[in-house]
Amino acid sequence: MNTFQELGLNSDLLQAITDMGFETPSDVQAKAIPILLNEEESDLVALAQTGTGKTAAFGFPMLQKINIDSRTTQGLILSPTRELCLQITNEMKQYGKYCKGLNVVAIYGGSSITDQAREVKRGAQIIVATPGRMKDMIKRKMVDISKIEYAVLDEADEMLNMGFKEDITDILSHTPEDKSTWLFSATMPKEVASIAKKFMKSPIEITVGKKNESTNNVSHEYYLVNARDRYQGLKRLADANPDIFSVIFCRTKRDTQKVAENLIEDGYSAGALHGDLSQNQRDLVMKSFRNKQIQMLVATDVAARGIDVDDITHVINYQLPDEPEVYTHRSGRTGRAGKTGISMVIVSKSEVRKIKSIERIINQKFEHKQIPDGMEICEVQLMSLANKIHNTEINPEINKHLDSINELLDDTSKDELIKKFFSVEFSRFFNYYQKSKNLNVSDTSRGDDRDGGRGYGSNSNASRYFINVGRKDGYDWMKLKDFLKEVLDLGRDDVFKVDVKDSFSFFNTEKEQQEKVLAFFTDYKHDGRFVNVEISEDKGQGTSRNKRRRDGGGGKRRSFDKPRSDRRSRSSDGGGNRSDRRSSSRNDRDNKSFSSNQSRSRRSNTETRSERPRRSRR
Ligand code: ADP
Ligand code: MG
Repeated sequence: MNTFQELGLNSDLLQAITDMGFETPSDVQAKAIPILLNEEESDLVALAQTGTGKTAAFGFPMLQKINIDSRTTQGLILSPTRELCLQITNEMKQYGKYCKGLNVVAIYGGSSITDQAREVKRGAQIIVATPGRMKDMIKRKMVDISKIEYAVLDEADEMLNMGFKEDITDILSHTPEDKSTWLFSATMPKEVASIAKKFMKSPIEITVGKKNESTNNVSHEYYLVNARDRYQGLKRLADANPDIFSVIFCRTKRDTQKVAENLIEDGYSAGALHGDLSQNQRDLVMKSFRNKQIQMLVATDVAARGIDVDDITHVINYQLPDEPEVYTHRSGRTGRAGKTGISMVIVSKSEVRKIKSIERIINQKFEHKQIPDGMEICEVQLMSLANKIHNTEINPEINKHLDSINELLDDTSKDELIKKFFSVEFSRFFNYYQKSKNLNVSDTSRGDDRDGGRGYGSNSNASRYFINVGRKDGYDWMKLKDFLKEVLDLGRDDVFKVDVKDSFSFFNTEKEQQEKVLAFFTDYKHDGRFVNVEISEDKGQGTSRNKRRRDGGGGKRRSFDKPRSDRRSRSSDGGGNRSDRRSSSRNDRDNKSFSSNQSRSRRSNTETRSERPRRSRR
């Protein structure tokens, strides 16, 4: 069956289908439509992933079968969320645009119930509703569904997930026994099976693709970071994909709001979508997202349910869902309408095992990828800018300023001009990222990296720090300890294992103090010079590889501008790489005594939010 005509649809619908540009039926449409158009009515259970065209699969047959000349409500479509409800209503109106006299009404919470009741009263052949509001309106006798012939449970798994089981049961009890029930779902958990059993009479079952399998045009990637680096990781993924158009999933409304606020503050075009926002706010956010004014939509699972926006390039799981099944819904937001998409997961070590259970559900493997380092991102941004310039149409308004610009740039060669031009944009990224740390943590639990995991998850509860002051600066261990205790406002035994070298030193604190210590030494100046404190991989045991390197490397001379290549090198050994960098930066500092007054503006291992280069809004 490869045309809509062959499926048996009437000319009004075929005309609308042509207008919409649908050429061939999707799998679920090809399977469901002939069954549902059959004179002999039957119940149907259809399992198909998001984005496979389920709306039309039930929408076309319903439109063809109802009697438009009657004003009685004949079709009821239940869907989990307001957004989805509105989407289905719009689609149905599109499909039925040549069906004269058709009235499809949406019923959902958060909007005037009397307005909705008035619309229904005008004669709605089809009602699309969320369960909560529907139940309410039945109770208040604002709708009459006692004569419906077709009931659709759309996204049934999600409705049950959201706790609508009782509402659905209640609603269906007000419908005739002999109606047909069509159930559509992406997955088939036990609850859906039990609903089907309870409300349906020997339904015909169709499955598109494998049960519970994600669409194949989505590739799945995971990124392993320390939990505290999650947000930095997210920003890097965004920066490494300049044209990203994505949904970012968080677990709670609070996290959703927070991540969105941080992104906005950091200059990204982002927005939040969750249940604590007013309907009006949600509508505005969705509108901006559809218009692509928002590049990154941060959402909860419930709020993002059924978002039907094509062209989403990335789904980012900022946090994994509690239920692995939910992942399928998330990743189904991308890779729609035949396009390819990427579903990324940011995990900390303790969550890696969840990846495995998701792999079993989606029947696809995740690729363990590395969070890009700063220089990679700079390169991507640079090339993206070059491409943008290459493809930009010239604005003729420029012409009248051309003479004066030419005069100004008269002595500048083309090469020089290009370099300068790019530096305007590029330097922001470069300055931000040039000292950025490697965020990746090696994955020992999956056995695909063999590094021994040194340095991370160490059982010691102490943090060891490197500080760029030493004997040259007049410190011995007692003086340094006193200095640290004083500026950090710490107790007598809170600073320990102080180890003073010639031009740098080490010291320990309890892990709990780490944040405070690092925060304090961001941009801290003493006697007009920057004091730089970083986490050291040296645990103060004196036997590690670091120790040898440090002692052996102390005399080597490396310039501060050169060892950038160290920072570029990534290996699967996150810990080792970090210690390599630490030792190179220690050498850097060795060259310049504390008094050399070289102002290094930032501590290299912390990317604070305010440091991010602002990106221009589209
Ligand atoms: P689902 O409910 O399975 O998640 P939708 O019904 O929302 O999927 O359809 C996803 C997208 O595909 C929509 O934008 C819809 O307009 C489009 N679509 C549906 N059927 C076809 C078709 N046969 N050809 C092209 N696009 C289609
Ligand atoms: Mg749908």
